[in-house]
Amino acid sequence: MRLLVVEDDPDLNRQIVAALEEAGYAVDRAFDGEEGHFLGDTEPYDAIVLDIGLPKMDGISVLEQWRRDGRTTPVLILTARDRWSDKVQGFDAGADDYVAKPFHMEEVLARLRALLRRATGHASSELLCGPIRLDTRAGRVTIDGHAIKLTSHEYRLLAYLMHHQGRVVSRTELVEHLYDQDFDRDSNTIEVFVGRLRKKLGSDAIQTVRGLGYLLLAPETA
Ligand code: CA
Repeated sequence: MRLLVVEDDPDLNRQIVAALEEAGYAVDRAFDGEEGHFLGDTEPYDAIVLDIGLPKMDGISVLEQWRRDGRTTPVLILTARDRWSDKVQGFDAGADDYVAKPFHMEEVLARLRALLRRATGHASSELLCGPIRLDTRAGRVTIDGHAIKLTSHEYRLLAYLMHHQGRVVSRTELVEHLYDQDFDRDSNTIEVFVGRLRKKLGSDAIQTVRGLGYLLLAPETA
């Protein structure tokens, strides 16, 4: 999952980005409204953290513009604690959720997890696919109850496929959603990670759909 953080306070921006990267997301950052709007307009983020008080273009205007242009990316806004009007304006502009400053990073992480799973049609923080169980809260994966050790790149890849299970996901889509914009993107590396995941999860866990991409499909239970 790839996220964008738009926050002009450099310390806060750095803290949020560090926490999100630590939690296994690929993260891009912007420090003003114009840059944030541009990135959100041109890159396929899975969710965006958007401060309301921003230089060059305020957060409400950024959000309104995205929504007017049909961008449906889930957006979590950061509001000032005592500005209830920020929250109302934010929701009316198309925000999906908010966190008031100052906040605990755990709350931002939990709200983002909820936005990400709801955006892909999952109600529970544990995703299941046959014997594979992925706990998005703890970042843990088990097969038939046995813990599997994954590297952060392997986890990212599996988490994306688990969120989108039952749908063919192209290699280009994976590259766009697993790496931040500074990463040296090479879609061949996806193949390498899929190969490693198959070794750990079982060779039939991820299907290759020739010419289209990869498919994670729960085995028939009947
Ligand atoms: Ca601000």
